[in-house]
Amino acid sequence: MTSPSVARTVAHDRRPDPAGPDAARRYVNQWVEPEAIGAERVPAFVLILKTRGCYWADAKGCSMCGYAKDTLGRSATPAELAEQTERALGRYRSEPYVKIYTSGSFLDDREVDPESRRRIVAGFSGRARRLLFETLPEFATPEALGPLAEAFAGELEVALGLETTDPTVLARYVHKNAPPSEYLAAADRVRALGLRAKAYLLLKPPYLSEEEAADDVVRSIGEAAARFDALSVNPVHIQNGTVVEWLYHRGRYRPPWLWSVVEVLRRGAERRGRARLVSFPTAGGLARGPHNCGECDARVLAAIEEASLSQEFGALDALDCACRDEWNAARALEPLGVEA
Ligand code: SF4
Ligand SMILES: [Zn+2]
Repeated sequence: MTSPSVARTVAHDRRPDPAGPDAARRYVNQWVEPEAIGAERVPAFVLILKTRGCYWADAKGCSMCGYAKDTLGRSATPAELAEQTERALGRYRSEPYVKIYTSGSFLDDREVDPESRRRIVAGFSGRARRLLFETLPEFATPEALGPLAEAFAGELEVALGLETTDPTVLARYVHKNAPPSEYLAAADRVRALGLRAKAYLLLKPPYLSEEEAADDVVRSIGEAAARFDALSVNPVHIQNGTVVEWLYHRGRYRPPWLWSVVEVLRRGAERRGRARLVSFPTAGGLARGPHNCGECDARVLAAIEEASLSQEFGALDALDCACRDEWNAARALEPLGVEA
């Protein structure tokens, strides 16, 4: 295992110096992606705001998270946030689903002050049917959420990076700041206010074998399903300036196979209860993202997306490729520290 100093050095290296005003006038990124609300396929408008970023990334940061590079290194002013939002609304075409991220927590006052939050949410009100934002659990309070629920005439969905329900995996391998119980309690608070709760689950944190990682997500789906409206499986992709990247460069980490995503969805579908179960892998098919042999990646990714949108997981059983055997061999040998 890497020493704590590796995590701290990596965290220190990836933090940008305080940015000037020009850098704060533009958001990080914006795109439109396929989504579903219930059985209806809808486009989702995704916006990443530029803020000071996650406070936890300054202290230690999670082992797979490199989002600190997309931050200002200082808090954005209300005027800067208003300008970013104005630009984004200029590109908004009334997509029914809106997802707003910062490189941290939308509900942390140091990232987005309460009045700016209210204005951002109100800007999409009456046009979007569902609006999602992500936060660490400690900020998901009735005081923070109440005014936003009032400002938005639709469904609010609060996304929480639970990652796993195993406290040891979360603390020692993912390096999160709070135990799973705090994420589950936050989801309860969100739902008590009549809002939707969504969990992100991490597939293959460092130090778990391919097989252990899949088991960890399947178990987490079973343990978290009743507390959330949606569960999204996020396979690790290698981001710059992270502990995972440090291990990858030393040959001690391979991103998960897409076969593991398929397996997690197939097994997880049995345990998801009433929650939606989805996976939209970032960097799928790339060397630094979840990938198979290269021949079958596009086909397998398309099937994963279709299952996520339709919630019909049966077609995943029909997927096959010669590399499935290689995946099985890798799963068997990896715990022994042998490269397949
Ligand atoms: S994963 Fe979330 S909590 Fe962890 S460092 Fe990144 S933004 Fe912060
Ligand atoms: Zn293949």
